[in-house]
Amino acid sequence: MEQPEDMAGKLSRQGYRLTPQRMTILAAIENSDHHISADEIYAHVVARHPGVNISTVYRTLELLKQLGLIYEIDLGGDRVGYHPEGRGHHHHLICRKCGAIIDVNEAVLFPLQAVLLQAFNFSADLRHLAIFGLCNNCRK
Ligand SMILES: [Zn+2]
Ligand SMILES: [Zn+2]
Repeated sequence: MEQPEDMAGKLSRQGYRLTPQRMTILAAIENSDHHISADEIYAHVVARHPGVNISTVYRTLELLKQLGLIYEIDLGGDRVGYHPEGRGHHHHLICRKCGAIIDVNEAVLFPLQAVLLQAFNFSADLRHLAIFGLCNNCRK
């Protein structure tokens, strides 16, 4: 798993300044055990750097996304989450009724990737998908 220093190192190597706010944002994403939201990141940052603006958080997330250091995922119902690139590829089954999130190994979608390649000559970029439906409890 990547440490915050790795993300920070990549940023500084590309000429970005490592402000204390940016370091705190990186640490919040890196230390989260789930898909942390921009609001959660902001709460984490503002507790340490009072007066920081939420637009700073959004700008930093945008930058990290562009550099490929974090993945963004639509969790449904206006919820967007983030996690570090180093956490590997996986997908999520998201219950549209109760909001439960079930993690799925990326290998589960390899057959779909193969079909898309065969039928459409399309090399699908299936690294982090959210698939919506009903969980076991909500199907009853
Ligand atoms: Zn994920
Ligand atoms: Zn459910």
